[in-house]
Amino acid sequence: MVKNKKAEKKCKYIFVTGGVLSGVGKGITAASIGAILKAKGYKVSIQKCDPYLNVDAGLLNPVEHGECFVTHDGKETDLDLGHYERFLDFETNKYSSVLSGALYRELIEKERNGGFHGKTVQMIPHFTDLVQEKIAMAGQSSDIHIVEIGGTVGDYEGLSFIEAIRLFANHVGRENCLYVHVVYVPWINTSKELKTKPAQNALKDLRGFGIIPDVVVCRTEKPAPRSMCEKIAGFSGIPSEAVLNLPDIDSVYDVPFNVLKSGVLEILNKFVGDDTEPDMSRWQEFSRLRGKQWAKTVKVGLVAKYVGNEDAYICVTEALKAAAAWNKVNLEIEWINAEEATDKDFAAVDGLVVPGGFGARGAEGKIRAATYALEHDKPYLGLCLGMQMACVAAARRGGIKAANSEEFGAGEENNVIYIMEGQKGKEETGGTMRLGDCAAKLAKGSRTAKVYGVEKVMERHRHRYEVNQKFLPEIEKGGLVVSGTSPDGELVEFVEAPGARFFVATQAHPELKSRPLNVHPLFLEFVKSLK
Ligand code: GLN
Repeated sequence: MVKNKKAEKKCKYIFVTGGVLSGVGKGITAASIGAILKAKGYKVSIQKCDPYLNVDAGLLNPVEHGECFVTHDGKETDLDLGHYERFLDFETNKYSSVLSGALYRELIEKERNGGFHGKTVQMIPHFTDLVQEKIAMAGQSSDIHIVEIGGTVGDYEGLSFIEAIRLFANHVGRENCLYVHVVYVPWINTSKELKTKPAQNALKDLRGFGIIPDVVVCRTEKPAPRSMCEKIAGFSGIPSEAVLNLPDIDSVYDVPFNVLKSGVLEILNKFVGDDTEPDMSRWQEFSRLRGKQWAKTVKVGLVAKYVGNEDAYICVTEALKAAAAWNKVNLEIEWINAEEATDKDFAAVDGLVVPGGFGARGAEGKIRAATYALEHDKPYLGLCLGMQMACVAAARRGGIKAANSEEFGAGEENNVIYIMEGQKGKEETGGTMRLGDCAAKLAKGSRTAKVYGVEKVMERHRHRYEVNQKFLPEIEKGGLVVSGTSPDGELVEFVEAPGARFFVATQAHPELKSRPLNVHPLFLEFVKSLK
């Protein structure tokens, strides 16, 4: 049973499922619906349920799964939550990502501790109840809570999630639930026609699980004729006005406009019982700025290990793109392979970003990038590992010739970056890092404090190693000063190069808090310094 009575009464729920194929923009559709409802004035939250057996995303390979996103309360999740935060300009939390692995673990631990009092523990009702509890918890302080179910309906591993969202309507009332099914309608080039059969079958599958959707979103490559939607409606017993077309579009940030054009607003209005227009003016402004060809182009070198894999650094690239739009410049991202990077690569760009990362591969290239930036006054933004490598670069310049990170084998003489006490020996396991929001106080009068405009900040973290303050004299001699620390002064949170055009690096991941309509000041200022 759903335990959270308060959530049951207050909140309305939108469930987004997929059919035919995964990877056709279900998450962006869900987030766009959220953005529209937010623009109507509602408090909207959003959650993703994924049927993976992983407990969290902390150990997933970024090449395969893209960047690991960290919530403010320290949960390591997949990059969908980043999209959600960017579209809704809100903070997801540890309930926003639900993986089967974590649910199984919770159930099995409860069973081992005698929590089921000798009863048989089963997928239904125990697993499905737990899914519903997580949904109720994630939506408890919202007007509208959106739940995206990963994969496609009918996937063996996802069945219990579909059953859980069906059951959910029994507890909160069908009128408080809106089921949106996103299907793909392929264009067959040889016969020059759109094929609706897979979509029809996908709807049949969903019906077979007891869910008749309120909205069917048909994703197509090109805008489709209305007759396609009518055909799908006719074959599936769904009113024709509830079957909508969403063709591909260049930028994900234009999807909310596409969703609005599709006719979804009327359905949403009916669902929430109010027909006010959403205020999309900020989105429109952002779209206008993004679509423009500006006189000035800035080239940013992203010194990275997974070169060209935008998903592995998606928060960083999205933050840069938005910062460029609001700064009214065109942006070119030059991917610089950290393993081969030379001064020539650094000289060819206007500024350097060194993002986060793990492991020694490419570390020397990142240290060279920071050294180059210090020596040539090249704007530099260091993010987590990017700050650690900047400190190593400065310490080497300051006389510790073999300075390095303990992560890459540096001993006591040279470990400018060292392991946090309490984390020793756990390097290979999941969930042992400093994760989520941590406060920092910024040095009065520093560039960092000026950029933020305040002296106390809260940023998200995901790291094990930290600056060894024993080496601060050498780091300073090499050109960097500490511009922010943890409130107790124990941990270095920010460094900067005094007098530089822009050289700020942080132990945190500010990219996780940057939103297209609310760009993080470090990114805004970094791009501004390139103009
Ligand atoms: N590998 C470094 C650490 O664990 C940096 C981590 C990161 O960049 N996210 O401290």
